Amino acid sequence: MFEIEGKEYGIKPMNCPGHIMIYKSRIRSYRDLPIRIFELGTVYRYERAGVLHGLLRVRGFTQDDAHIFCRPDQLEEEIGKVIDFVRDVLDVFGFNDVKMEISTRPDKYIGSKENWERATRALEVALKSRGISYDVNPGEGAFYGPKIDVKLRDALKRSWQCATIQCDFSLPERFGLAYVDKDGRPKQPIMIHRVVLGSIERFIGTLIEHYAGAFPFWLAPEQIRVLPVSDKFTSYAQDLVTNLSELGYRVGIDDGSDTLPKKIRMAEKEKVPYMVIVGEKEVEKRSVSVRERGKKDLGEMEFGEFVKLLEGNFVPK
Ligand code: ZN
Repeated sequence: MFEIEGKEYGIKPMNCPGHIMIYKSRIRSYRDLPIRIFELGTVYRYERAGVLHGLLRVRGFTQDDAHIFCRPDQLEEEIGKVIDFVRDVLDVFGFNDVKMEISTRPDKYIGSKENWERATRALEVALKSRGISYDVNPGEGAFYGPKIDVKLRDALKRSWQCATIQCDFSLPERFGLAYVDKDGRPKQPIMIHRVVLGSIERFIGTLIEHYAGAFPFWLAPEQIRVLPVSDKFTSYAQDLVTNLSELGYRVGIDDGSDTLPKKIRMAEKEKVPYMVIVGEKEVEKRSVSVRERGKKDLGEMEFGEFVKLLEGNFVPK
């Protein structure tokens, strides 16, 4: 903690308390629930210098973090929705080897046995009703509630932790969270902590490993690189960059003095999905010659034809 102009500032290690303050900022009725609060929240944790590792283990990272405050009878549906969301997102990124694990009540726990059973059942039913198989880690839950961990396997079959769906009976109690129930009495909501990607930095690290840098077209930081054969064709190449950028694509140009084979090798090495080669013939016909990453020449085509090819590439819904 430190002080600036008489106010205390600190470094935020987690997002939960902020969302709890929002929940507590007014009286909540059973009709207001569930309340879902989302934040791309940057948090800081002190990791020893020796364990810092690329994007995978860092001292400041951003979580796609949400907290769902719900009634016990809403738990199953809320968890189901989070599971559907996790599956949709992982599908878009091309992860189809996903493992789910439920961790159950440890010896030392807080909250009522009834709530633990209800929450654990909610996690199980949400997975079962979707036909998702899962492993159980008996007694491995946190003292404050059961959880589902989602683990990915990348192209090299390495396992990566991403999403977590954690039920929490403890923080609602400690912070005195309540809602006014049908009978006019205050009741305690259950809090679900959930991340889908987890740490964005770590997830990007996972993606890079999974694709070995060769991202699918929609995800590639540079989707197309225009390669003029010599500087005589730079102006036409620039026009292509402008036109493709205007269509929303991320386009680069290699107008250096290297030979064409060297430019192609460089673009291949940097895993750019498409190379557009322009020389005398292309300038004359206002056409493009296209190469796809890792494949041979796709040949010469009209600009419109190339754009159609790009549109066909856009996978995520
Ligand atoms: Zn949380």
